[in-house]
Amino acid sequence: MADEKSRLQVSSDFCSDDEMLDDDDYHSLWQDGQDSMKGSLYLPHNMSMREDISQQSTVIKQGWLSKNPPQGALYYQRRWVRLDSDYLRYFDIEKAVYSKGIISTAFITKVTAVGDLKLEVVTSNRTFIFKAESEDDRNEWVNALEECTRGRRRSSVPSPSLMSDLQGYLELRGLRSKLYTVIVSDKVFLYKNIDDYHIGVGITSIEMNVGSVKETDRRSFDLITPYRIFSFTAESEQLKDQWVDAMRNAIGLALSTSEIAERIWAEPSNSSCADCAAPKPEWAAINLCVVICKRCAGEHRGLGPSISKVRSLKMDKKVWTEELIQVFLLLGNERVNSFWAANVPPSEALTPSSCSEDRRRYICNKYRQGKYRKYHPLYGNQQELNDALCINVQCSDVLETLSLIFCGADVNCSTGMASCPTPLSLATTHSQPLQAEVISLNLNTELPSEINQEMDPAHYQPSPCVSHNGFLFKIASMARAITERKNKEEFCRRWCTLNDGLFSYYDSDKNANPNRSLKISEIVCLAVDLPEKHGYNYTFELYSESERLYLFGTSDPDSHKEWVKSIAKSLIPAAAEPLLRLNFERIGKLKYKDGLNLQTSKVGWFALVGSTLHAYLESSQGEKIHLRKLNELSIQQDNGVLVLVEKGRTLYIEGERKLDFAGWCGAIQEAARSGGDTLSEQQLTETDVPVIVLSCIGFITQYGLKSEGIYRKSGVNSRVAALCERFRRDARSLCLKEGEHQVDDVSNTLKRFFRELEDGLFTSENANMWLTVAASAHENSKISQYKNLLNQLPHVNKATLQALINHLYCVQCFSDLNQMNLHNLAIVFGPTLFQTDGKDYTAGRAIEDLIQHYILIFEVDEQQLKKQLEEIKAILMMHDKLNVKFPPRPEFTPAPSFICTVYLEEKDGTIEQSVQIPGSMTAAELTCEVLDKRNIPFKDKEYWSCWEVCDKEEMERPLHYQERVLAILHSLGTDSHLLIKKHPGMDAMLVYLSAKSDASKHGMMKFREERSILGLGLPSGNFHDRYFILSSSSLRMYKEIRSNRPEREWPTKNLKVYIGIKKKLRAPTCWGLTVVNESKKQEKSERQQWYLCCDTQSEMKEWLAAFLSFQYDGDVWPQDGLQQTRVSRVLPDARHGNVSLIPLRGSENEMRNSVAAFSQDALSDVLLVSPLFTCDKKSRSSTHA
Ligand SMILES: [Zn+2]
Repeated sequence: MADEKSRLQVSSDFCSDDEMLDDDDYHSLWQDGQDSMKGSLYLPHNMSMREDISQQSTVIKQGWLSKNPPQGALYYQRRWVRLDSDYLRYFDIEKAVYSKGIISTAFITKVTAVGDLKLEVVTSNRTFIFKAESEDDRNEWVNALEECTRGRRRSSVPSPSLMSDLQGYLELRGLRSKLYTVIVSDKVFLYKNIDDYHIGVGITSIEMNVGSVKETDRRSFDLITPYRIFSFTAESEQLKDQWVDAMRNAIGLALSTSEIAERIWAEPSNSSCADCAAPKPEWAAINLCVVICKRCAGEHRGLGPSISKVRSLKMDKKVWTEELIQVFLLLGNERVNSFWAANVPPSEALTPSSCSEDRRRYICNKYRQGKYRKYHPLYGNQQELNDALCINVQCSDVLETLSLIFCGADVNCSTGMASCPTPLSLATTHSQPLQAEVISLNLNTELPSEINQEMDPAHYQPSPCVSHNGFLFKIASMARAITERKNKEEFCRRWCTLNDGLFSYYDSDKNANPNRSLKISEIVCLAVDLPEKHGYNYTFELYSESERLYLFGTSDPDSHKEWVKSIAKSLIPAAAEPLLRLNFERIGKLKYKDGLNLQTSKVGWFALVGSTLHAYLESSQGEKIHLRKLNELSIQQDNGVLVLVEKGRTLYIEGERKLDFAGWCGAIQEAARSGGDTLSEQQLTETDVPVIVLSCIGFITQYGLKSEGIYRKSGVNSRVAALCERFRRDARSLCLKEGEHQVDDVSNTLKRFFRELEDGLFTSENANMWLTVAASAHENSKISQYKNLLNQLPHVNKATLQALINHLYCVQCFSDLNQMNLHNLAIVFGPTLFQTDGKDYTAGRAIEDLIQHYILIFEVDEQQLKKQLEEIKAILMMHDKLNVKFPPRPEFTPAPSFICTVYLEEKDGTIEQSVQIPGSMTAAELTCEVLDKRNIPFKDKEYWSCWEVCDKEEMERPLHYQERVLAILHSLGTDSHLLIKKHPGMDAMLVYLSAKSDASKHGMMKFREERSILGLGLPSGNFHDRYFILSSSSLRMYKEIRSNRPEREWPTKNLKVYIGIKKKLRAPTCWGLTVVNESKKQEKSERQQWYLCCDTQSEMKEWLAAFLSFQYDGDVWPQDGLQQTRVSRVLPDARHGNVSLIPLRGSENEMRNSVAAFSQDALSDVLLVSPLFTCDKKSRSSTHA
């Protein structure tokens, strides 16, 4: 501060205040106008500057003046100067929002005209000189200034410092020196320094009604306005918190003036949003004459001002002329909606909690497309509409005017009268100010047009240009799927026509009356059969909304093609038109849900082509779903949902009707299967490697690296064949498991897959070239030749080869354990991969080369490979550790412990259970395992869960059943433990969730924050009432219900919600939640802890349920109960190899219990022998056999 003081003494003697403003970096930052600001600094809402200026106090006088030059420079600077009762400001340009200088009129002591068109504005210790362009202008300025400063000087001016909410120095990014910043009620003032503040001469003021505050760093935050982002840095973290809070308060204050709102709400229907019925709407679309809530206003703004002119009832005071207020009182939301929302299907209606997506769609439908409006009887007849408008504006029926305008009457039409040529002048002449108001607000309004951008089938208009006719053969329509072949005799010849959205068939082309007409809009699916499926070789099926199936056929492939094309063309809306270009086997519409909104289903258009499902979902550009690359595909038969899980998203396709849905399910399942015996027809992972290959490699890496002679020893033929068949049927659904599957069976399955692969891994075309390279003696050029050939392989082959060679490279790294060195592996894999008889070693040589030069040929990142090998070593170490319990081998001590102690019902030594936790174990599996061990049966409505209990914080958290336990274990502190007990609230939570239809949860809770700072910062000692809104994306906290901007916002998915608040904090009720937000900021993980307190237990359960539901996309509890989540384990086949020396009971995991468990467990009669050891034994004996 001393710095600022001393600098001030240097500068304040001068009458200019501009020396700082002319500072280079300051100036560039300060320049108004868009080019000096980066695009990212702008907020999305395209609010014009003019609108914002209207919110400031009334302007007394403004205009161009020249201001005296700084520090005695010679030239004057042209400034746009504006005076209101409180401040004299000057700007670079007329449209600037933030001034270069602001002088409080309260501090102006004298205004005098001086020679040469100048005027002097004198404050206590500075004099500002302005130069006008004319004598008159100068005198006007002097008068205006005198007028508004006169009163001020008489009254004693309260020291501004007394009124300020917070003041102090802040660094503003881009400036060399700090600014003295003062928050006074709803404004923020920037001064060069504290002395300037005391004399009322500042730089600018920022209106906070358009501001929002975002914390950016430990000490920094942004004050964001539509025109500029002010990036401030405070002197400390505590001060930053204070600034942020104070600025947010100022914003709240700025937004809370409510006089006009109260008046508008006097009409009862205006007190709920015209679009979503939310109470106390504070915004209006003034040209559409609707009062709307803030969220809807956001969507209105998205329509653009040519459709909806959005104004605030509270902020845009100047807009609200008496006439406009009267229009709103006269019409009211209810009457206006009798026009705008005359035909809203109940399924499309909004509620206050509707999500943004639904709002956007509804509001776009309602106002941009006019989809729900009540059509005026004259609709479509321009001249009559115009005439009606001209007549109507002379009376007081404003609603009729609105209806005419938005049904097409031209507000700028000619009345044919010279005295009042336009409807507007007509209304004015006939003393209809309210009519005039409505008209003038809509002079440039874009009228609703039903360009069908939405894919809503109910409103889809078939393209009239599609027409086609000809003879087809059909069989009687059916109410079930056609599974059997239909012979030619079953078909009858029919004359078929497609016209005006109607598909009809007649007995003959002479008949006038069709046997049946199907509206195209009733057709939900068109399926194209493979040729020769039926007696007529080329057939297609039409599925109707009323669950009928029509089969048509022809012997002419061209006619078939033409029909399919024409029907599809009339079926598919414009937005999904690219589907028509596909060679689809099935096309149609289906209801679906996805991602964020699982409450409402939407209509999408789908086409199936090979193994790709093309989809046009609402508001999407069209996308492809690669069915063979799905992570999961399942049908929930009972509720008719097809679930497609891709990386990062889940699509739920709903069976609205049985017949076409069954068709889709069958076709999609078929398409998701391995399509054949070539590599690319397999089910693939995201890396384009067949699932079967990665499954086998993964299993061998886990359990086979120490198996002597791995890949060389043969498995049991019948089991290998069964495995191959299982993989072929659905590789994704087969999960290889230790104990269930044998290492040698799996290794041989992999070999068999490659040996039988159609076209081979190296492709029949190129395989010989690989062998030629292998046989060549030019070792030097080999690698580049291999690389060359590698790049010629199809993508899937290349990816698969790399995955396999990587695996083999790893296998030979452990050859001291498994005896499979480079050469041995090459002997085995050469003939397998090249599908040769193995009589000569060339194929083996090729594989040996590939493994040996793996890094070079595949351009492998050596660090990555090293890491991979280390991970494998860790796996092996883990196995070792589990095998040899006593004595522990010291060299392995840092190995992570995968054995943990879990308690049952309560923490007590007698009911603790040691369990080995594999990385994939879920909370549900752990729970089941512990209950099994304890012989505790499952009962209905008993929600056994695994809980994370934290003693120190006095809180506990039921894990979600799918949570991976190992990750939780790693994050547990020493004062935490896992406990298996029933979830007492789950039943109530599920009931609540099943009844809940909102996409978010709102409500008051008491809030307290844990501050990481030592006793400093904002008082955090007490619980305060706050309003919360929880959605799938975030938990937002508002100071009160009405607040526009959240005080805090946290991502829902990051939060861990614990039940309980530690007693020390004296929570006001006992229904408290502790919420932990663990976020990673720049490598550092940050942990924040909040306490939320509910008034009742059921409220707390609701919040808990909502959190869980949002975090897991509605999947809160396994549908078929916890037991079903268990992996079914199959005992190893005892017939094979050796008869187990040990009676095996339960799974291998169970065998691996710690000794502690061993002594008191139900398994205690079982000899605890290392399962790996058993494996080895088995394999050894099988080798003997
Ligand atoms: Zn609304």
